[in-house]
Amino acid sequence: MATDYSNLIDGEMVTNDKWMDVVNPANEEVIGRVPACGKDELDRAVAAARRAFKTWSKTPIDERRAVIQQVAGVIKENADELYRLLTSEQGKPHQQAQQEIIGASMMASAQSTLSLDDEINEDSDTRLSRTRRVPVGVVGGIVPWNFPVMMAMQKIAPAMLSGCTIVLKPSPFTPLATLRIAELIKDVVPAGVVNIITGEDSLGPMITEHEDIDKITFTGSTATGKKIMEGASKDLKRITLELGGNDASIVMPDADVEKVAEQLFWSSFSNAGQICIAAKRVYIHEDIYDDLSAAIAEYAKGVTVGDGSQQGTGVGPIQNKKQYERVLELIQDAKDNGYQFLLGGDADPSGTGYFVPLTILDNPPEDARIVAEEQFGPVMPLMKFSSEEEVISRANNSEYGLAGAVWSKDVDKGVEIAEQLETGTVWVNEFLHLSPFAPFGGHKQSGFGAEYGKEGLTEFTYPQVITVKRDAVI
Ligand code: NAD
Repeated sequence: MATDYSNLIDGEMVTNDKWMDVVNPANEEVIGRVPACGKDELDRAVAAARRAFKTWSKTPIDERRAVIQQVAGVIKENADELYRLLTSEQGKPHQQAQQEIIGASMMASAQSTLSLDDEINEDSDTRLSRTRRVPVGVVGGIVPWNFPVMMAMQKIAPAMLSGCTIVLKPSPFTPLATLRIAELIKDVVPAGVVNIITGEDSLGPMITEHEDIDKITFTGSTATGKKIMEGASKDLKRITLELGGNDASIVMPDADVEKVAEQLFWSSFSNAGQICIAAKRVYIHEDIYDDLSAAIAEYAKGVTVGDGSQQGTGVGPIQNKKQYERVLELIQDAKDNGYQFLLGGDADPSGTGYFVPLTILDNPPEDARIVAEEQFGPVMPLMKFSSEEEVISRANNSEYGLAGAVWSKDVDKGVEIAEQLETGTVWVNEFLHLSPFAPFGGHKQSGFGAEYGKEGLTEFTYPQVITVKRDAVI
């Protein structure tokens, strides 16, 4: 039976008379209804955030820190309920949903330990000049459907720590766990500091263009990111954009085939490939190409695609119908062009649930759509390379620049290659690791600004320089 969920505005759980359905992607059943908000509800949420900003921005940072830690604690305490709800709306297997919920709690808690200390620019006989960080004001947060809880907390925690207040909009596809968290934290967070409202995509531009919002922090597609930059330009709102990626993984000839096969598999197929930083292009040195591609395909055969709530499922469905159809279209394009498949390529769109069989392509050309575009699905193109220079140039031949990985027993060589990749993050011999203390952001069309770390936190602030003339004659 579908459950009704409420929004959090000014410390109260509220609904309106318009609703949107939320569907379980594993069986296409409606599992919940959430309010479909428009400008009126947004205005109320922004007004509440503005009122709360007066007090919250003056609340000592240690007190703000303590509230974030309480929020993180509430999420952790309710992890069992939340991860099941997350699986039912997002599709990811229980274990991965649990990792997201616990991870969101841990990342928020860790981020709350960051500080915004003043910096001294000049301390001389004649002058004391220091830079302090002041919160920008009311933040609009806009979140996608692949990691709904992690992305929400990634925005809420630093906004709160900086002294900002926030109006957050989850994706219309995955608002349920976030709204349940809203209900759980409403008595922990002062009224108006965090507001969570749901609506169709059309609510997004209203947030971007709202005259009383000072900053937008957005995670989603590059296409939407560009619209946000345009909308925010009208009153020069501050923006942070975390956008798409087409990350390359480079496997050097000295890599251990068996060990790397499993890790490469999960770097592409975790969350059914719906990760901005998933390995979406895998370049394998020709000396080990045949062995490694066979080992990856063999490993994949042991992984079950299915309903994420069922024990033993390794890869769940695609989260929504539109994305499902897009992934099928890319696979069909690969078939039409005669590219070779090591596995998969035979989805059945007539079945129930948005399931795509694990699909591995055998050395498709660089300009194949399935290589050149962000697939965002359980699809892994393996490509052969012969020289370092060639693979670096192929990896960098993308409008995206989010992340990448190098796999080699020779760590110095791995780092040497990593430093030549045009991306915001590069892993050597690991994948998908993000630190709350390191800036995460895309180069090129993968983003603007950063989240996490000191850099991420300062994006919620303006610098203010206070200069005192010490030898003034007045
Ligand atoms: P999307 O851009 O379609 O939607 C993201 C959010 O923006 C949703 O809440 C949506 O309702 C809202 N939105 C839609 N149109 C809008 C508009 N015109 N103005 C303002 N908001 C609008 O993205 P998606 O399909 O939900 O997510 C998938 C994309 O997100 C992929 O490209 C993926 O790579 C990217 N992503 C990036 C990161 C990162 O950190 N770089 C993380 C996760 C996902």
